Amino acid sequence: IESKEEYRFNTTVNSAMSTITVAFPSDEAESISLHQLKKLLAKTTYNGFPIIQSTAHPRVIGYITRADIEYNLENAVSGVNETSKCNFNSEKSQNEENCIEFGAVVNRHPFTVNVTTTLEYVLDVFVKLGPRFILVEQEGLLVGIITRKDILRYEYTVHAMHSDNDVESSNSEFDER
Ligand code: ADP
Repeated sequence: IESKEEYRFNTTVNSAMSTITVAFPSDEAESISLHQLKKLLAKTTYNGFPIIQSTAHPRVIGYITRADIEYNLENAVSGVNETSKCNFNSEKSQNEENCIEFGAVVNRHPFTVNVTTTLEYVLDVFVKLGPRFILVEQEGLLVGIITRKDILRYEYTVHAMHSDNDVESSNSEFDER
């Protein structure tokens, strides 16, 4: 990824971001079981998951990496079983027994931008501040996530679209070698 000056995407972050498909609610009423957590980990390859207030009000609470979840599970305390609830809050669960506490490894200040942010600005944040991902909000609620690779993929797709006309010439160049 090169410097900002050379790039004019002329678009906002929502054209390159992914819509959130998996996020963990911190609201105890919606808390998932260990069984559900394991299923979600197996079903996806994401490096991590946003923690939201609730499904109805997905305000960003934080982000937890897959590695931290797996580390916590390997070292899970005794008494935990498949029906145990997962708690992503900073405070320990009051109501649930045998709760698995993830609060200590939740990043409470993930980078966030608004959907209307330009893609150039987002690229600049990646280059200058070096986060692994940036969460995307609309009206204060979580809607997406973008990684460095998403920008590369976006750039590649746009580039491929625009260079369709060059395909023949580049093929012939290749043939000559
Ligand atoms: P990378 O893009 O560096 O490989 P990830 O493996 O975390 O990082 O993400 C892979 C893809 O999935 C990216 O396009 C990213 O935007 C998307 N993604 C990551 N986490 C989530 C999530 N919780 N919900 C939906 N999409 C996600």
